Amino acid sequence: MAKRKSLIAGNWKMYKTVPQAVDLAGRLKSLVSDSVDVDVMVAPPFTALAVVADVLKGSAIHMGGQDLFWEAEGAYTGEVSASMLTATGCTYVIIGHSERRQYFGETNATVNKKIRSALLGGLTPVMCIGESEAERESNQTFSVVQKQLEEGLEGLTSDEVQKITVAYEPVWAIGTGKTATTDQAQEVHEFIRGRIEKAYGDSVANAIRILYGGSAKPENIGDLMAMADIDGALVGGASLNADSFADMVRISIDTVTNKT
Ligand code: PEP
Repeated sequence: MAKRKSLIAGNWKMYKTVPQAVDLAGRLKSLVSDSVDVDVMVAPPFTALAVVADVLKGSAIHMGGQDLFWEAEGAYTGEVSASMLTATGCTYVIIGHSERRQYFGETNATVNKKIRSALLGGLTPVMCIGESEAERESNQTFSVVQKQLEEGLEGLTSDEVQKITVAYEPVWAIGTGKTATTDQAQEVHEFIRGRIEKAYGDSVANAIRILYGGSAKPENIGDLMAMADIDGALVGGASLNADSFADMVRISIDTVTNKT
């Protein structure tokens, strides 16, 4: 089986002014050495992308946007395009985060448009999916995740799907301090990989990266990363502190090195 390179990604959300972002990026740069065994990415707010890119120059840390709009340009006040992100140095973009779905009306259909535009612009989309607490409690986890996956990826070719990173983020675990157990997370990751295998074949399913997100931190990242189908993490709160995030990268490198 092809070995997938894991990714530890930090979503800074609506935190960090420009000077604060420069400080955090500088600390990270000094703490995260050339992590050849694990990819590392941070997604600062739009206002800080350009300065963070400058600070991270020469490091192994990649940068991503937290969202984009699907049009190339135009009268879309407040939005940014794929080419605007790549021009600042982004190589990734988070799409369909549950906070965007919850507060900004994003749907599987808009996620699909955004993924297409990201791929067209040469960005790696990190497509977020995950069930709410009520959906988990009413045993709808698999059906919700399957629908998000199918509709989000609708019409894409196998080659395109292979370029995407999926982030499974149970909504009830985001920013709540409640982490899915390793078994709960592995079970859904395995299900997602299985659906991808069914739709796009073995080699796409083996190659695609599936991250876990939801209160991941230094204390639980090792156990999560040890699971067969967990290929990294999308980290919110713990990515705002350079020491915690760098610890998570270090622990992940140790864990993947010993993973079979
Ligand atoms: C996230 O924002 O994607 C996330 C998982 O947040 P947290 O780690 O704070 O739960």
